[in-house]
Amino acid sequence: MRQKGGPSGLATSLQYLKGVGPQRAALLAKKGLTTIEDALFFVPLRHEDRTRLTPFQKLQPGQTHTCSGVIVGLSPPPPGRSRVPFSAMLRDESGYATASWFGASYLSRVVKRGQRLVLHGKVARFKGAIVLQHPDFEIVESDGDDRLHTGRLVPVYSTTEGLTQRPLRRLMWNIVEGFAGDVSEILPEAVRRRRGLVPLATALRDAHFPETEAAQAVARRRLAFDEFLFLQLGLAVLRSRTTRAQGIALNPRGQLVAGLRAALPYALTGAQERVWEEIRKDMAAPFPMHRLLQGDVGSGKTIVAAHAVLTAVEAGYQAAVMAPTEILAEQHFMTFRQLLEPLAVSVTLLTSALPSRERARRRTALAAGEIACVVGTHALVQEGVEFRRLGLAVVDEQHRFGVAQRARLKAKGERPDMLVMTATPIPRTLALTLYGDLDVSVLDELPPGRRPVKTVARTETKRPEIYAFLREQVREGRQVYVVYPLVEESEAVDLKAATDMARHLARDVFPDLTVGLLHGRLGFDEKDAIMRRFKAREIQILVSTTVIEVGIDVPNASVMLVEHAERFGLSQLHQLRGRVGRGPWKSYCILLHAANPSGEAHRRIETLVETNDGFRIAEVDLELRGPGEFFGTRQSGLPAFRVADLLRDAPLLEEARSEAQTIIAADSELRDPAHRALREGLLARWRGKLGLASVG
Ligand code: ADP
Ligand code: MG
Repeated sequence: MRQKGGPSGLATSLQYLKGVGPQRAALLAKKGLTTIEDALFFVPLRHEDRTRLTPFQKLQPGQTHTCSGVIVGLSPPPPGRSRVPFSAMLRDESGYATASWFGASYLSRVVKRGQRLVLHGKVARFKGAIVLQHPDFEIVESDGDDRLHTGRLVPVYSTTEGLTQRPLRRLMWNIVEGFAGDVSEILPEAVRRRRGLVPLATALRDAHFPETEAAQAVARRRLAFDEFLFLQLGLAVLRSRTTRAQGIALNPRGQLVAGLRAALPYALTGAQERVWEEIRKDMAAPFPMHRLLQGDVGSGKTIVAAHAVLTAVEAGYQAAVMAPTEILAEQHFMTFRQLLEPLAVSVTLLTSALPSRERARRRTALAAGEIACVVGTHALVQEGVEFRRLGLAVVDEQHRFGVAQRARLKAKGERPDMLVMTATPIPRTLALTLYGDLDVSVLDELPPGRRPVKTVARTETKRPEIYAFLREQVREGRQVYVVYPLVEESEAVDLKAATDMARHLARDVFPDLTVGLLHGRLGFDEKDAIMRRFKAREIQILVSTTVIEVGIDVPNASVMLVEHAERFGLSQLHQLRGRVGRGPWKSYCILLHAANPSGEAHRRIETLVETNDGFRIAEVDLELRGPGEFFGTRQSGLPAFRVADLLRDAPLLEEARSEAQTIIAADSELRDPAHRALREGLLARWRGKLGLASVG
């Protein structure tokens, strides 16, 4: 952004503005505002339409209103009675209304009779009276500033203690009036015209002090577009680098893959064939592959990954398969060993659970190139593992991996091909955000014969019937999972809940059956032994903590009983359900939950009962948790949004993506002088993560 030099530049510290000073500057800094430019982009939380104040008489219970009145009476709660609200009786031309605030006894020091307030909040009827519940309010002062705070669309900012709404609004007004016009346009004219976007200076002005709601919406759209554009530009830069970079061409004759296929008891689905062809082409090309393989639980991603691994090995390279949990790494290890060893391809396991001597031995073998395929957890990337010739990295269950971890693994080989797999179907908006630097393949077909899992929600009263049902299923030759959530903070307590349950089931409920217990504290050999016994049907009922959440594959299991279902997240429940329905039998998922689950828990359970569609589930999950949670902290490598909303603004994200691709296709490192402002903005937002040389 343009730096004027001298005290009027956008980079000027707010402290030097009239009426700020060090004390207020410190408060502003708490909000992340140190320069004039920061403040310009500090958009309001919302706007209140104070041209249309609702008369008290027209207040509707259940609705949110903005209104104004003079305080005619105050009733603070009696000392020590914290459950009584602080109330104010107000009058306007049309009548009376009450405003009440809980836990706000400090208000007696703030508001006084005779003051005029503007209030904004939700209205309820309480004992026949109209009450504004915990409204936002502002004292209308005759400070000659009325045109700013009343009779217009008034911005409401996020405040902080010691920094109240009116002085903050006054300050923002001064800043917007004084400096918005100094902000230079960053978008090329052509882009702005194509996308129908207002100039940046106009957008900033109207985002704060719009004349109309329409102007405010247009301003918001422009600012959100810019945020998305910078995100997508960054991803496009990363992507254009990998597609241009020299990679390894893995293009063997395909004998190992042919051998694998000859040994499979089934034929690949059409979707698997298609996806494998996409991957094969990528691997054969002399550029690094960067591909995301999306497929709902049970769609058969593992076998596709095995094709890729064998291709790398036949070409003379090593392959690494990474999983988010120990148990999943162990399971993959067993699967890959089964698939690969008959073809004389060596597979080894590397997890942090191994004794350090053994780990060291395996690492040496990897570095010497004696091992063709290694399966492991994050430990694989985090502990300085050396490969002799890493040609392919497969990352399973990507939603648990961050951008940074991916990058670190990439750095292990020359430029190995990357295949990233996810069973959490990600809504397209999010896929564009998270994986905008990847190509995407989708397994949109389940292996034949699968039937949707029947899902029911039950409460404790139905436990006897549930047990009877489990017994019936076992009698028919099926097997059962019983899963416990992480309930307490302490692993020991959770373990005890699961252990007690396993003992109770074994002794009291199913004394004639074999009940197994699986949890995260067991060593590999113990877990392996239990999984083997479960696979071999020696164990009929497997009680487990959430360690089996992802990836476990025992097609004969037909019932997933989830205890305390209200405590699980939506995608977790979907993953758990995905453990059954893998064979030709009818399968069941029973969600045993508390009698009165919270609203959100209820919605999660209801969604799972309603649909088996992973995409639909991911969308509801995103809606319930919001993008921050959904991404997880590991994804924090991406620039943050101040204005844009991934859910609401999805179409805009697509527009920004297509614009970013056009820009980068023409000017991959943004060297064109017309893109200078874009380049600087990009550098600032990605803070060095792109490695673009900075200008000047
Ligand atoms: P996910 O995509 O959830 O990782 P898996 O790779 O674990 O799924 O596959 C689920 C199950 O489906 C496994 O038992 C696997 O052997 C089986 N499977 C995979 N592909 C096919 C196919 N084309 N036909 C029949 N069964 C298949
Ligand atoms: Mg899997």
